[in-house]
Amino acid sequence: GGLRRAATQDPYLDIAAVGKQFGTFVALKDVSLRVQEGEFISFLGPSGCGKTTLLRAIAGLDPATTGVIRQAGRDITGLPPAARDFGIVFQSYALFPNFSVADNIAYGLRGPAWPAKRVKARVAELLDLVGLAEHALKYPAQLSGGQQQRVALARALAPEPGLLLLDEPLSALDAIVRLHLRQEIRDLQRRLGVTTIMVTHDQEEAMAVSDRILVMSRGHVQQIGTPEEVYRSPATAFVASFVGRSSAFDAVVQAAPGSITAHGVTLQAEAARGLLYGTTLRAFVRPEDVRLGVAAAGLPGAVPMTVTHLEFLGPTCRLSLERGAFRLEADLPPDQVRDAGALPGAEVLAAVPPDRIMVFPADE
Ligand code: ATP
Repeated sequence: GGLRRAATQDPYLDIAAVGKQFGTFVALKDVSLRVQEGEFISFLGPSGCGKTTLLRAIAGLDPATTGVIRQAGRDITGLPPAARDFGIVFQSYALFPNFSVADNIAYGLRGPAWPAKRVKARVAELLDLVGLAEHALKYPAQLSGGQQQRVALARALAPEPGLLLLDEPLSALDAIVRLHLRQEIRDLQRRLGVTTIMVTHDQEEAMAVSDRILVMSRGHVQQIGTPEEVYRSPATAFVASFVGRSSAFDAVVQAAPGSITAHGVTLQAEAARGLLYGTTLRAFVRPEDVRLGVAAAGLPGAVPMTVTHLEFLGPTCRLSLERGAFRLEADLPPDQVRDAGALPGAEVLAAVPPDRIMVFPADE
């Protein structure tokens, strides 16, 4: 609700047509993004797509070659990092090993605005905020990875920056700590209302914490949208394959409206309506959108498929289905799988609701 309302206001951070070249290599091409105050945005993409380059341009660590960046109405494009208003957390913690936890957090609190008494109070406040009050006098080497990253977060937030930049903050942590800390970061960010940008290559992580995700590939913006938008309505084949799991297959548009064929199987796809007969497509299906047995029987394009693999995962079963070269992955509640008689080697009726087949031009 709040974000919808904010969409009509001036953005807190306005990235306009930003480009970045390293010699002749184009690392960022024409990137534009408007971030509202208090939003949590993730930059998501594979290694080398330019997400760190974009974050560094916002921080002024590596200024943009072209374009304009404004923060709170101020043109910051050419400002050095020290003249900007942000806190940053890196993957590698980057704490001062010879400083205590408290001194690390106090590091950025300097100048006439920060008399000793105020620094002390602020450090205590942040130690509480990140749950490290009893570790104030320890040194970084005496802390776990997750605790060290909490210190880095506290240090970044201490001067009350307008913008929090997170560069793969969870990548160095093991799976369980990672899940805890991402929740903590999101809860903290919500409570403080600090506008936040996080770089990550982990699509699940981006979906879990973000208000909106900027999906990048090879220096280009592929899509900017809420987690649900990029998952349900991917703008490109790249987004469809990079965000979430899916089965992908080549298909050709048939004469009948919405009809496509893939490896000899004819399917109905709403998204293919109106496309020219003979157009070649790349199609994607989410594993939870596959229907089996009675649930498939009423749908157009229902076809018998062989179960080639079955895994019980608790809340769902994961199945591989095959009919010749046409393959689908399905992720369904175990009772539905059982009711459909989908055992390894068995043949089951399978279908995909026509509005759940995502299609893109094959050459995209
Ligand atoms: P990763 O997750 O691996 O860090 P990334 O999406 O953050 O990937 P960037 O670090 O932004 O990618 O790099 C984007 C591209 O720019 C890469 O191809 C990289 O090799 C190139 N690049 C980055 N910094 C420099 C530099 N200082 N000089 C030359 N090329 C660079």
